[in-house]
Amino acid sequence: MVAIELRNVVKTYDDGTTALDGINLEVDDGEFMVLVGPSGSGKSTLLRVVAGLEPISSGDILLGGRVATAETPHERNLAMVFQSYALYPHLSVYENIAFPLRFGREFNKREIDTLVKEASRTLELDDILDRKPAGLSGGQRQRVAMARAMVRDVQALLLDEPLSNLDAQMRRQMRADISWLQKRLGVTTLYVTHDQSEAMQLGDRVAVLESGSVQQVATPQDLQRHPANLFVAGFIGSPPMSFLPATVRGDVVELPFAWLKISTEKAARVWGREQLIVGVRPEHVELAAMARTDHKYARIPQGVPANVPAHLAEYEKELSSGWLHTAFDFRTEFTGRVVERGRDELYLNAASLHLFDPVTGCNLTQGVD
Ligand code: ADP
Repeated sequence: MVAIELRNVVKTYDDGTTALDGINLEVDDGEFMVLVGPSGSGKSTLLRVVAGLEPISSGDILLGGRVATAETPHERNLAMVFQSYALYPHLSVYENIAFPLRFGREFNKREIDTLVKEASRTLELDDILDRKPAGLSGGQRQRVAMARAMVRDVQALLLDEPLSNLDAQMRRQMRADISWLQKRLGVTTLYVTHDQSEAMQLGDRVAVLESGSVQQVATPQDLQRHPANLFVAGFIGSPPMSFLPATVRGDVVELPFAWLKISTEKAARVWGREQLIVGVRPEHVELAAMARTDHKYARIPQGVPANVPAHLAEYEKELSSGWLHTAFDFRTEFTGRVVERGRDELYLNAASLHLFDPVTGCNLTQGVD
């Protein structure tokens, strides 16, 4: 197993599309790194250039500290699992798993048999080794593809949306399996998904991509608690963070419906600014029985603005789902978690706000709780 490093990697396709716009990324030896981002953000391209399936325009790719930019896919010795699994339909499960071992003629028949049996035991495929792919469930095909990828002694494992063809229940099961397997094998893994909840569940760290650039690389917990910018803040978390326009004066933040006192530390971070965007995670909207008079809390009023009361009237209905949706103005969808039943005072807690620069999108209060 080896570490993977991308140094200022640019990939421009022949038609002029720049899919990777100066990527710097380090995946530690044995680490499970997830690449997440919307469609077209460059995730698959990144995986393909690491595998050596696409040449890069500039920069370097290092495997285990060695510059591998000019190496062929075979020389890089990485295993890749695709969304489509790419199993050979005319071969049995056994032969599909054995395929990469026969390719290089490095192994004799007995060695191949030992390796296939080992991989199939790990992935619980012993009972179906004679079957053809057409006779397998989606989950079984997925496991065969994983076994085939790992049967060789590979340097790292690259997975491109490997679960997207599975139904929701199987996807949950396979996420758990992949996570367990990756830890057991200790194999350096680069895993692509567009699903932020999958990324948060699987990754030791998660790299968030947008328009061919890495927006942030962090542990799932840090992405949730300390998003670097508006993009990451809005992309990570479900239901998503809500954003409100605000002005700041000293340690007072004025929201469209109330004002709040922020901590001295946060005030120092936004000193001298006027316009801000305030981000609130739904789990930080509190529904309280007693009036909170402390200015660390801002009451979300029933009367202002005018379109709130209709939503508040509806929230009893929504309690069953546990989520309350209100709209403060026409620009802002607001989502809050109902923490107490049957009350109608909603509060924002200043301690849980993120303050963003409206121009650059930078989180000015990153790291300040
Ligand atoms: P993702 O995997 O995040 O959906 P991709 O890496 O597939 O993103 O694509 C990133 C960008 O590169 C997109 O704008 C896409 O249209 C473009 N792209 C991908 N493959 C090619 C190609 N072979 N030729 C030209 N443009 C491509």
